Amino acid sequence: MSGVDAETSVAGGRHTDEPVLQLDEVTKIYPGASPVVALDKAGFTIRRGDLVAIVGPSGSGKSTLLQVMGTLDRPTSGTVRIVGDDVAKMSDRALARLRATRIGFVFQQFFLAGHATALENVADGMLYSGVRHGARMRAAAAALARVGLGHRLDHRPPQLSGGERQRVAIARALVGNPAIVLADEPTGNLDSVSGAAIFKLLKELNAEGTTIIMITHDRELAARLPRRIEVLDGRVVADVTAAEQPLSTGRHLP
Ligand code: ADP
Ligand code: MG
Repeated sequence: MSGVDAETSVAGGRHTDEPVLQLDEVTKIYPGASPVVALDKAGFTIRRGDLVAIVGPSGSGKSTLLQVMGTLDRPTSGTVRIVGDDVAKMSDRALARLRATRIGFVFQQFFLAGHATALENVADGMLYSGVRHGARMRAAAAALARVGLGHRLDHRPPQLSGGERQRVAIARALVGNPAIVLADEPTGNLDSVSGAAIFKLLKELNAEGTTIIMITHDRELAARLPRRIEVLDGRVVADVTAAEQPLSTGRHLP
């Protein structure tokens, strides 16, 4: 089992200065009869071990930002670097590979396959990683145990609660040990108790070393994370690191 542990564990909560995601003057214009400037020279750097909220009202450009950060869409101008690589210089094939191995996605709507078990859903997160079937299954079981679902491997999404479904989605995002987890309104479809539990889980996973970017319209939720990037009309209007964050989390304060 040690091989699986090595694949699924992370670097023990170390917070280094290594940039994992850099946006510089990123603009995204949706063309049309009346073009929409969804992102307007947005820029920031996410470092390994960060736990960051991207917060803004509806229509401010958060989902567009997620698409661009996750290499699901290319910006109109500006640069996106993931672990140092400029994604504009990469082919679609290379990008698909980068996405499969470096980025984990968590969405508000979970996006699980309803007919597949929790184990299969999570193992599918490594489908394009070149890892063999048996190793994928073992890694998936370990990831489900890590999110507290070690007793639900054979359940299918309809047999799981909303909070449990989101845990499966988080396990799927984590299973390949990505450099970044991007979560778009991960508690948006959950009741307050399940939402609070998912929020706590994301904080725990970050404490174990996972770099997490959480997109939310909920200012109160965002204020409870160590760093908050505020967007409005496609612009970054604030980038705040919470002064009250205790040093015991091992984070560097500026
Ligand atoms: P948020 O996630 O913060 O609600 P979005 O990134 O979804 O914001 O949208 C930002 C702006 O871009 C909005 O004005 C929205 O209407 C517009 N927009 C989003 N997607 C498209 C699209 N595919 N085509 C045209 N306009 C879009
Ligand atoms: Mg959105």
